[in-house]
Order: sequence, then C-alpha cells, then structure tokens
Amino acid sequence: MKKHNFSAGPAILPQEVLSQAADAVRDLNGSGLSLIEISHRSKAFVNIMEEACALSLELSGLEKTTYRALFLQGGASTQFLMTAYNLLEKQAGYINTGSWSDKAIKEAKLFGNVVELASSKADNYNYIPKELKPTGDLDYVHITTNNTIFGTQFHDIPVLSAPLVADMSSDIFSRTFDYSKFGLFYAGAQKNLGPAGTTLVIADMDILGKVSRAVPSMMDYSLQMAKDSMFNTPPVFPIYTALLNMRWIKAQGGLKGVGKANAHKASLLYSEIDRNDCFVGFAATEDRSQMNATFNLTDASTAERFDQLWNEAGISGLKGHRSVGGYRASIYNALPLASVELLIEIMKEFERTN
Ligand SMILES: *Cc1c(COP(=O)(O)O)cnc(C)c1O
Repeated sequence: MKKHNFSAGPAILPQEVLSQAADAVRDLNGSGLSLIEISHRSKAFVNIMEEACALSLELSGLEKTTYRALFLQGGASTQFLMTAYNLLEKQAGYINTGSWSDKAIKEAKLFGNVVELASSKADNYNYIPKELKPTGDLDYVHITTNNTIFGTQFHDIPVLSAPLVADMSSDIFSRTFDYSKFGLFYAGAQKNLGPAGTTLVIADMDILGKVSRAVPSMMDYSLQMAKDSMFNTPPVFPIYTALLNMRWIKAQGGLKGVGKANAHKASLLYSEIDRNDCFVGFAATEDRSQMNATFNLTDASTAERFDQLWNEAGISGLKGHRSVGGYRASIYNALPLASVELLIEIMKEFERTN
C-alpha cells in the first residue's frame, strides 16, 4: 500500500512522474535504449537538458532575460561555497534563519567578510527576523527562503540595494513568486523538484564575472553556462525526473495552480494545529512555512500513542528534526490533499481518545 509521505527530503514526487521516470530507465521514448545508458551528448539527452533549462526559466517567469539555468551536482551544500566563490569579493550579508543559513555562512567566510544582517538563532530559529543591521557596501545578500527544519518562510522578500542570493531548496516552484527579485537562486532538487543528485541554479549573467580570484572550472557559473551544464557528465536521471516534475507542475496550472493547492493544504493543517489543544505550533504564526509545518504535543508524554495512531494510518515521515523535536509535516507540491485530510482526521481522533 502506498504510504502518505510527509518526508522533508528526499520527498514525495507525483506518482505519474515516478512511473514515467521508471519507464525511461527501461526504454527512453521507445528508442530501445535506457535514459541512463545513452551519451549525455546524444540528441535525445541534449533535448532533455534544453527543455529542463527552458521550463525552469519559464516557471520562474524569466525566459528571454539575462538569466540562465544550470543543473549542477553537489547539492545545495555546494552552492553555499560556489555562490561565495563566484560573487564574494569583499563582503557579503547573510540573514541567518536556520541551520542551512548557518552552514552557508560558514562556507562564505572562507572567501571574504561575512556580515550577519540578522539572526533568529537565539530563539532556535522559530521566526524570520525583519530588522536588518545597517552596513556598508555588500557584494550580495544571501537568504534562505524556506527553513525546512524549523518551518519558517519569508513571506516578504527584503528589498536591498545589493543583489539577492537565495537558497530555495524547499520552496522552489511552490507558489507564484517574483523570481526577478533575485540575482541568483538555487535549489537542491530532492525537496520539491526531483530526486537527489542535481541542483537547479538560476542566475542573472549580469552579476557574474566580477570577482578578481580565479575560479576552478567546475565551480565557475559562467563556464558552466557556456557549456550548457555539460562541462562534465551531468546527472542524467535526476535532471530527466526534474523535467517530468516540471511538466507536471505546468499541467497543474503552473505556479498559480500548485500555489493555490499548497495554500489550501497549509491552511487546513495549521487551523487544526491551532484548534486542537493537544498540539502547539513551533514557528511564529506570521512566518509559518507553506511547505513544512512544525508542531509539538502540548503533553510530550502522550507521544507514544500519537505515533502509534499515525503509523497505523499509513502516514510516514512525520517526525520532527532532532533540533526541534515534535513533528514536521512536509506538504510539498506532490503531497495530495487527501494525505493532509487524513493527518487532520488522526489529530482529531487523538484528541477524542486522549
Ligand atoms: C535540504 C536543504 C539543504 C541541503 O541540501 P543538500 O542538497 O543535501 O546539500 C540546503 N538548504 C535547504 C533550505 C534545505 O532544505
């Protein structure tokens, strides 16, 4: 039986995307060859890469601009250093809203001066700080749009004079959004875009090529763009699966369609968390994430019984991250409304029988 998959990542993908991906591993479009046994320079794969880049720019509303899309390897964690490698000459600003921001800061410090413009670390990252420290010139400002572990999300993107760089690993293509606010944004695929193994990077070419240091080929955005993400062998399977998923998003009515469904799922779930006295939300109400809902039991001693209930109902991946405890319901694009409705049913049953 298919489980109701609330995993934070690697995370749920649409069933039809999984079966199309499986078909392509056996036989790519009736070619008699598997997706994973053909040359990445073949026409068949070059077409896949071109469509994946074009569709990611289309979903971002950035087609026919100076932005280019890349499908790279090394996960979002490699982007923590690659952004600084390519963009940090003197100093950059970072807003510290969670463990992933913290890790990005640590990497950037290897390349230049890092100013922490704001941080919610002292409160275990349960809110998004709004007041930013004034500073001198910054090469860029880095934010994490959705904090996967803590369940907070930027609902207003700060307006600054420096280019904005965003880690969007867990909320890319989840809602309508003005992506042109960013000079560069990136997302490890395995949360809301595809399987682990590729990272989407979309960057405005105009902000590149400004640092004086030499950048090694694999780390160089401009070179990767000149080579159409094929400086070396790209991860063909994750890229193809991400393409299938982006086609699926488009078929749902694009970002408007998935955004509406996601807002509905989140609003149902948070209403139950707030209504039901057995539960308490973790994140500040105004900063709640539409992708990862974090909550705790009001009485931690009842955990065993709640865990038994949701496990028996076929729910998977609901345990919170160890740094927050409690529960985290990741309600990404592909998670059906029915799964959220079931979870709410279980929360109500727990309340009745507690
Ligand atoms: C999961 C996650 C990461 C780490 O991604 P990797 O691809 O494993 O390096 C970074 N940032 C955010 C916001 C994440 O959710």
